[in-house]
Amino acid sequence: MPPYAFFHGQFVPLAEAKIGVMTHALHYGTALFEGIRGNWNSEQKQIYLFRLKEHYERLEKGCCLLKIKLPYSVDELCRITVELVERCGFEEDIYIRPLAYKSSEALGVRLHDLEDDFLVFAIPWGRYLDMDAAKCCVSSWRRPDSNVIPPQAKITGLYINNALTKTEAMENGFDEGIMLTPDGYVSEGSGENIFLVINGQLFTPASYNNILMGITRDTVIKLAQNELGIETIERPIDRSELYTADECFLTGTAAHITPIAEIDHHRIGNGGIGKITGKLQKLYFEVIRGKAPKHLAWCTAVYKK
Ligand code: PMP
Repeated sequence: MPPYAFFHGQFVPLAEAKIGVMTHALHYGTALFEGIRGNWNSEQKQIYLFRLKEHYERLEKGCCLLKIKLPYSVDELCRITVELVERCGFEEDIYIRPLAYKSSEALGVRLHDLEDDFLVFAIPWGRYLDMDAAKCCVSSWRRPDSNVIPPQAKITGLYINNALTKTEAMENGFDEGIMLTPDGYVSEGSGENIFLVINGQLFTPASYNNILMGITRDTVIKLAQNELGIETIERPIDRSELYTADECFLTGTAAHITPIAEIDHHRIGNGGIGKITGKLQKLYFEVIRGKAPKHLAWCTAVYKK
């Protein structure tokens, strides 16, 4: 079966979903995207979409910011996405990419007086950070604050900041870059939130530290609290705390929970996966594959049995 896209209101082969060269979003970054995982459960021959509704709720909020009128409700978007994956018939881990965008073929920087559209496609996608523990650096690029470009929305134009960070990190021999806020506190990775373990407690930058409010971040906070009895403290984090943390890890839909081995050549813990990170990772992988009955409400099964 070819991969499909939902494009201009219908399901079409992905290769046929094309936009015009004058499309507003292409020129000015006037679009919002999401990244949703479908996780293959080989015993059940089922794909579970993880926290589908929350992803579309975040997209809907971003659309208010960019004055994008989504042509579908959150429930409709969920239904469209399930049908898309079902039609594709994947039997492996996938990644779903919805995009709400200014679709007018018109020039001129603005958000008003433009048409909007929505598309979504799905592709097979395994690991994003393809290593057991990532080598990170603190980026020379700062994370813009909410009065520059709102970082709480996945605005395509904003991601040039993330791309600069990622490429700088990789060209310098690291796997990922960690951005600081303009006033020098830890913000997040180019596509992940960050957590520190200090004396058995979890710490992560707060909403006002210019982060995307990650759905994986929220999942980790809830699993740590409810399953391990570990509290997460959301507060500004100093750069120096990165270097001295007992454990450190990144969270994101694409990156899942990825331990950090070192930051700016400072080894974190034993340079592998820490004890608490390991427990969280194990729990998380069970939950996203629909293997934890208690958390099935977070998982949308695609294939009808
Ligand atoms: N921060 C940034 C900049 C991201 O792009 C992502 C990936 N969506 C995250 C954090 C993690 O968010 P989530 O867990 O919702 O995927």
